[in-house]
Amino acid sequence: MHLFDHPDFDGHEQVVFCADPESGLRAIIAVHDTMLGPSLGGCRMWPYASDAEALRDVLRLSRGMTYKSALAGLPLGGGKSVIIGNPRTDKTEALLRAMGRNVERLGGRYIVAEDSGTGVPDIKTMAQETTHVSGVVEKTTGTGGTRSGDPSPSTAYGVFVGLKAAVRHRLNRTDLEGLTVAIQGVGSVGGHLAHFLRDAGATLWVTDINAEQARRVAESVGATAVAPDAIFDLDVDVFAPCALGAVLNDDTIARLTSPVVAGAANNQLAEERHGQMLSDRGILYAPDYVINAGGVIDVYYERAGYDHERVMRHVESIADTLTEIFARADAERRPTAAVADGMARQKVGRAR
Ligand code: NAD
Repeated sequence: MHLFDHPDFDGHEQVVFCADPESGLRAIIAVHDTMLGPSLGGCRMWPYASDAEALRDVLRLSRGMTYKSALAGLPLGGGKSVIIGNPRTDKTEALLRAMGRNVERLGGRYIVAEDSGTGVPDIKTMAQETTHVSGVVEKTTGTGGTRSGDPSPSTAYGVFVGLKAAVRHRLNRTDLEGLTVAIQGVGSVGGHLAHFLRDAGATLWVTDINAEQARRVAESVGATAVAPDAIFDLDVDVFAPCALGAVLNDDTIARLTSPVVAGAANNQLAEERHGQMLSDRGILYAPDYVINAGGVIDVYYERAGYDHERVMRHVESIADTLTEIFARADAERRPTAAVADGMARQKVGRAR
């Protein structure tokens, strides 16, 4: 396996391979950059087919976190961790505590939060071994109640304001009344997003590989549920990918007719060139790590001092950042994703 000449190695500051034979833990922690602050990022648990696949994922995801926090204006660097294993069958308290000890050994250079395959209870288990955790503390809400540490509602709110900014730029409209939106994946983020959009008057189509989940969300927001593969062929204003990565590829981009793509999923572009392909087709793409930064903003304030209004104002700044990216992309005739990468690299002094 290649390491220093790995295609996704981007001068990462530290890549730690963690093994704990007693609990069966096999994990990788990647600290990409701590120029702006300690690295913060989720811990993904996934049954990777190979160690190489896990390494590729953690290298790419940790770099994405550097860019995400930089453009969200947070004093944080980028890091991420992956546990190789099936979250349904391999997750034990011993394994999570062993992961916590590995995080602790980094002395605060990496702060762990939840990601696919891990949730608030898992991070709380890691917290028995380390203080370098986030996304675990109950938070106040706008209505004076409390909610769990799960950052998904803030992520969804950021996607909502970012989607509005994209619609304003591309379709020249400020209200969402009657706007047609197709949401792929109505889990934690997609589900909340559907409610924000419904309340703003949008007409929705939803899909999920979990058909029961799609039916439940469709019923609660008055949306039309469609089969997973049908979501790319709808004649809508906005396609909102809120499921998996690599969803924007040769096949799907050729099928999409929506003038805007704005959603929460990480690593939406299958390859860098797909940013250009979207732009060539006249589709305005809201770069994923910019529009989905509401979650990292939320977990940042959990450690810095949580105040609901302050967090919401910070999340709303995602719209301004996107508007600047869209304007620059127009002026420079470059894909929005390339413009965002350039701005992020400049912020962390990694411009090459
Ligand atoms: P989730 O697991 O709660 O929801 C994802 C949903 O997508 C699930 O219901 C799943 O069944 C569905 N799905 C998976 N593959 C699909 C497919 N091919 N077609 C249709 N549906 C499919 O996850 P989430 O927390 O809502 O996150 C969604 C995306 O947003 C992920 O890519 C995640 O990395 C990204 N993201 C999440 C947050 C957060 O705060 N949760 C923050 C930033 C980015």
